[in-house]
Amino acid sequence: MTGAAAEPGGVRSAASRRGPLAMEASSLSKEFRLGRGQVVHAARDVSFNLYRGAVVALVGESGSGKSTVAKMLAGQERLTAGTIRLDGQPVDLSSLRAFRRYKGSVQMVFQDPFASLNPVHTVRHHLERPIRLHQGRKSKAELRAGVNALLEQVRLIPAEQFAEKYPHELSGGQRQRVSFARALAAQPSVLLADEPVSMLDVSIRLEMLSLLDDLRNRLHLALLYITHDIASARYFADEVLVMYAGEIVERGPAEQVTQQPAHPYTQLLVASAPDPDNLGSTLRSGFQASAGRGVAVAEQGCPFSPRCPFADDQCRAEDPAPQPVSADRAASCWHLDVAAAAAVATAGESEV
Ligand code: ADP
Ligand code: MG
Repeated sequence: MTGAAAEPGGVRSAASRRGPLAMEASSLSKEFRLGRGQVVHAARDVSFNLYRGAVVALVGESGSGKSTVAKMLAGQERLTAGTIRLDGQPVDLSSLRAFRRYKGSVQMVFQDPFASLNPVHTVRHHLERPIRLHQGRKSKAELRAGVNALLEQVRLIPAEQFAEKYPHELSGGQRQRVSFARALAAQPSVLLADEPVSMLDVSIRLEMLSLLDDLRNRLHLALLYITHDIASARYFADEVLVMYAGEIVERGPAEQVTQQPAHPYTQLLVASAPDPDNLGSTLRSGFQASAGRGVAVAEQGCPFSPRCPFADDQCRAEDPAPQPVSADRAASCWHLDVAAAAAVATAGESEV
């Protein structure tokens, strides 16, 4: 056993009060080499912890590095640098056996429910395989009961009927439920959900998030919820991590980060979030129009400086380290006080 967990970003995780530490990502970096000396820094020095029973949301625009982080945690992408620990032990996936055992604890669900199931196999087939692989030898009756239990857990009822269906007979939401069930067949402690509702119809997204929330509670899962939609993170996350150009630029309790974002990039995300109860309506600001233009990245200095209204020479020269905002909040910005004052001022304006 190791001692007390490291405090990523220099602050205590708001997720830590839910349950014991499950996974530690410490200083993860990933570089993709594209040839001709070109390098993409998809993740830089990314650190956070996942706790049993807690939801940590990883939020950022497309291309910010979210999936790369999830794939490193899932053992699908090699680390350029950093360490991952599971239940206090450093993760080493060099043998197939070790990888299999790891998959028994760490499972991932992907964005596209249409690509993730094999069209020639029934739901039963998709679920029996991981049960056999991760739960050991089973009789036919036990397998049947196992499949039924999984389907009931994801509310595909009557289970016996859904088990015989092929993917083309299911809606997008039903397919995603099968993907959840397949991940749960391994009886994992950690679930990595990479934009699990982004490709689903808007009308069923909330229902799917509430299912995830329910599974996290009942199975005491450590859940990493990845999304580009910061409003959905507020819905059920304990801690929000905001990622920009491969770096975590802000972290803290979901409610605080989404209500009073400290980092100028988080302010931008919140201001442009299409939220039904108008999250961020008090935070409209002049640079909102640049949201969604893609991830512009500085060669040096703060990665957000090309888009930041507060950027000065210091920002363009030196990348800021995380600055504590409170005991469980931090943001990487040289001008947190200026950004906070501007957010309060625009909030005042829009209330008039
Ligand atoms: P997100 O999930 O936030 O949209 P990704 O992790 O998919 O972001 O990508 C982060 C960055 O890494 C992007 O610039 C992307 O183009 C790049 N990238 C991701 N995977 C690869 C790869 N296999 N080879 C080269 N570049 C990649
Ligand atoms: Mg992605």
